[in-house]
Amino acid sequence: MRFPYANLRKGQLEVANFIRSRLGGYLAVKAPTGYGKTVVALVGHVGSGRVLYVVRTRNEIAPVVREARNLGASFTIVFSGRRMCPLVRGAEVSPEDFWLNCRLLRLKSMCPYYTNLKQVSQEELLELLNSADQLDPHVLASLVARELSACPFFALSGLADRVELTIATYPYLFNETVYSTAFSDVGLDEFYVIVDEAHTLVSPQSILSDSVNQSVLRTSASELSRHGYGELAQQVKHVEESLSRVTFNKLTRVSKQSIGVDADLLRELEEAFYAIRLSYLQSLVEVGVEAFARTTSSIGRLVKFLALATKDFFSLYTQSAFDTFRLHALPLGYEPMRERLRLARGVLLMSGTLPPKDVLDKVVGRETEYLDVEAQYGHVFPRENVFYAVYTSVTTSYPLRSTRMFMEYAKLVRSVYESTDRAVLAVYPSYEVMNEVVTYLKDSISTYVESEKTKVADIEKLLAAEPHTLINAVAGGKIVEGVEFRDSSGLSLISAVVICGIPYPSPDDYVEDFREALRSEVGDAADTLVMDVQASIRVTQSFGRAIRSEKDRAFIVLADRRYLKKGFKELLGLRYDAVFSNLPSLLSRLNDFFRLNRAK
Ligand code: SF4
Repeated sequence: MRFPYANLRKGQLEVANFIRSRLGGYLAVKAPTGYGKTVVALVGHVGSGRVLYVVRTRNEIAPVVREARNLGASFTIVFSGRRMCPLVRGAEVSPEDFWLNCRLLRLKSMCPYYTNLKQVSQEELLELLNSADQLDPHVLASLVARELSACPFFALSGLADRVELTIATYPYLFNETVYSTAFSDVGLDEFYVIVDEAHTLVSPQSILSDSVNQSVLRTSASELSRHGYGELAQQVKHVEESLSRVTFNKLTRVSKQSIGVDADLLRELEEAFYAIRLSYLQSLVEVGVEAFARTTSSIGRLVKFLALATKDFFSLYTQSAFDTFRLHALPLGYEPMRERLRLARGVLLMSGTLPPKDVLDKVVGRETEYLDVEAQYGHVFPRENVFYAVYTSVTTSYPLRSTRMFMEYAKLVRSVYESTDRAVLAVYPSYEVMNEVVTYLKDSISTYVESEKTKVADIEKLLAAEPHTLINAVAGGKIVEGVEFRDSSGLSLISAVVICGIPYPSPDDYVEDFREALRSEVGDAADTLVMDVQASIRVTQSFGRAIRSEKDRAFIVLADRRYLKKGFKELLGLRYDAVFSNLPSLLSRLNDFFRLNRAK
């Protein structure tokens, strides 16, 4: 397959050849955002067999659709069934509820969109996917429902055995149940798998985890009692009691055995859930198909949680979070993801912030063939477009946290903001640190502070109205992971990033258990994997928000003296441009940097 562009970036052809000549192995390609990794990966694969290209979020499907069309590759898209379903259309239904409702409607031949599938040929679907000028996956799914009156989920997932490329979100690779719902006719061993943003594998809890709050447990218990499942309701209440003892906002381990979370409880709840919903099906004539598809219950939510919680390699943790208590099921180790990758015909892991080869090999449990594009072919964007400054007067190291230290951080952040005329992103290791620092920032400047309720669209709106805004965000959160803010000419709106401290994971029982689980496998490297590697990825993700193309210029401040530690610096893979111990010198260099770049 040829590149669809006349001008190629340095090394693109070579990287595509590297991939193509090693298909079937475990490959890793590290290249920054804007390099064109997607097209390189596709040119390296397409024409050699089925490809499953997985992305973290639905928003990341569109760029892959664009490249597939440019290449003329046949493709399909698959994401959340309930978001594709025309009967549900935006209603908040838990996945477990949705899939049971959908299954019952199909069994009883009551879903008109499913019944119509038989009338729709794969040619019609392919024609629709290729001819629509839309890239948005939601729009493409709704076109299938509107123009062909067919179920978008089953129509599009059913194309997987026909097309060269299936573009899907992470659960369609990493969650076996979700995979089999979509691809019952195609084994994972028939797919070459491309994992986008593969640095995420280092934090398996961000791929495979689930939680329920106290209200889900409480409502499940009362629903069960109401339907005559008194004994089962008592068992659920016993699980809920584990939350009544929670006092910390840190993750605190709880043994599955002590609260009765096991395969028997899951099976009994599944049976009760199914029976209750089936009884509701009798009233379908009155409520109608749409209302039935939207039926939701806490028991469904709980069943979904227990399906993960009862698996090997998953442990339970309680936490008090904002206005509720939660029970989390979190993976201990990388095995749940490795199991899935092992089944694939071949694997390509891609990211701009991929950890070094020796680390990645430990994460995936085998040797990768690793290509670092910038190390091999030189900087993708001119190196002088970005300035990396280390500021050593501050640290978020626990013993040194104090009001004075938080005020120092506020002074630094405010000074950087006042020296620029575009947006500044300040990134903090936790909500606690951020809230302390912003206490001293709130007057007179345009500020946004991330919260649980943050929507990326709100920040886009704010930046459109006031480009000179200080955005305060938590490392690893919604703003810092995978979002970009550009103006109408495509230029990044963020001109400076201040990373306040090193965003190590908070010390809690989960971090401790995760480290212990890894220690038996990788020895002392477990400490580095759990702490330094995760923190270094959060740092590189943070400053990656500012540099999205060769046109962008950014000043990055790594504000913590621990950035000078040799091991951490190596993990970041950076050459620092300067180290400052006083603020005036740092600001003077920042002003020079922007003055020089304005003059260019
Ligand atoms: S349209 Fe029907 S078959 Fe398709 S996902 Fe919705 S309920 Fe299920």
